Amino acid sequence: MSEIQFDNITHSYEELPSVSNISFSVKQGEVVSLLGPSGCGKSTLLRLAAGLEKPQKGHIKQGDKVISSPDYALDSSKRGVGLVFQNYALFPHLTVLDNVCYGLKGSRKQNLSIAREVMSDFDISQFANSYPHELSGGQQQRVALARAICPAPNLVLLDEPFSGLDTRLRDRVRDKLLHVLREKKISAIMVTHDSEEAMFMSDKIVVLERGNIAQIGSPLDVYRAPKSSFVATFFGEANQFSAKVEKGMVNTVLGDIQADGFEDGQTVEVVIRNENLNVFDAPAQDTSDVSFTVLETHLLGSSTLIHLSDRDDDRGYHLHARIPGLNYFEIGSKVYLSASPNDIYIFNVA
Ligand code: ADP
Ligand code: MG
Repeated sequence: MSEIQFDNITHSYEELPSVSNISFSVKQGEVVSLLGPSGCGKSTLLRLAAGLEKPQKGHIKQGDKVISSPDYALDSSKRGVGLVFQNYALFPHLTVLDNVCYGLKGSRKQNLSIAREVMSDFDISQFANSYPHELSGGQQQRVALARAICPAPNLVLLDEPFSGLDTRLRDRVRDKLLHVLREKKISAIMVTHDSEEAMFMSDKIVVLERGNIAQIGSPLDVYRAPKSSFVATFFGEANQFSAKVEKGMVNTVLGDIQADGFEDGQTVEVVIRNENLNVFDAPAQDTSDVSFTVLETHLLGSSTLIHLSDRDDDRGYHLHARIPGLNYFEIGSKVYLSASPNDIYIFNVA
């Protein structure tokens, strides 16, 4: 039981830098997500954690022990980690049951009992006697998860572990996985490009941008207090526009917003998430003076997406609002908008 610590890790493939100066820790029992777009270095960090790559600078510690440094990497098999990597295949000549039992050290009877329980958690009991090639990608992925979790390692490393699953199955499997991790107090580092998945699973999210850390924090921190427009917009579609600071305020279509810490005359970037725009069919408290015209209404089930313009045509400020539930707004009708000042983010222009 010990903490994993990435300390100032820098890595490159040949001459090509992949990640730079990465520091973060994973406490025992914590689930930490590495979140970012494709190519930002997530899988590389996971491979470093597994001992499949060595850093060019920095080191990784497990408790007090250095397990990776520029001239040393403790072998993966000696790290006591469970791996679920995209191309980390199941054993083709073993049945699903034997794959799942593979890392277990007890008697056959004990092993079977543990394996059957975990297989039931991941809905793969019916495949016990099948071979991996008889299974779909999503089924194999669940077998890989079961195999990694079964020996109750200190740490599991998960690279996009739900990517092959359709939405509903994915929700069920990740719920199960989180439950098992918590129950067995297993730490996890999970790679994902899906912000909702990261928020659902994690105690801590490391947001990565082109090989660098953009922000680290709890799901609530990174969602509510993004440090850059990159982080703000990575958690869902948002309205973005630039504006000038005058007398400490930014003038926007939603009215004047206080711009503390910015200089007069400075151009800033304003970001408002779609879900933070409130839509009213008549002026209400705190709504903007200008009315907006509804250009489109999309009924999505649990929410409604509305496209808006501050002009009758689509050449003005074009905003998107996502409101809860099904709320049809007639195309061409006038609406009024508000947003809480806490939900309007102002950033320096990069
Ligand atoms: P992610 O998992 O976030 O998509 P990766 O860690 O796979 O990102 O890749 C980070 C960067 O390193 C990318 O620019 C990618 O093209 C490069 N890269 C990844 N694997 C290799 C490799 N085996 N050889 C050379 N470059 C690589
Ligand atoms: Mg990857």
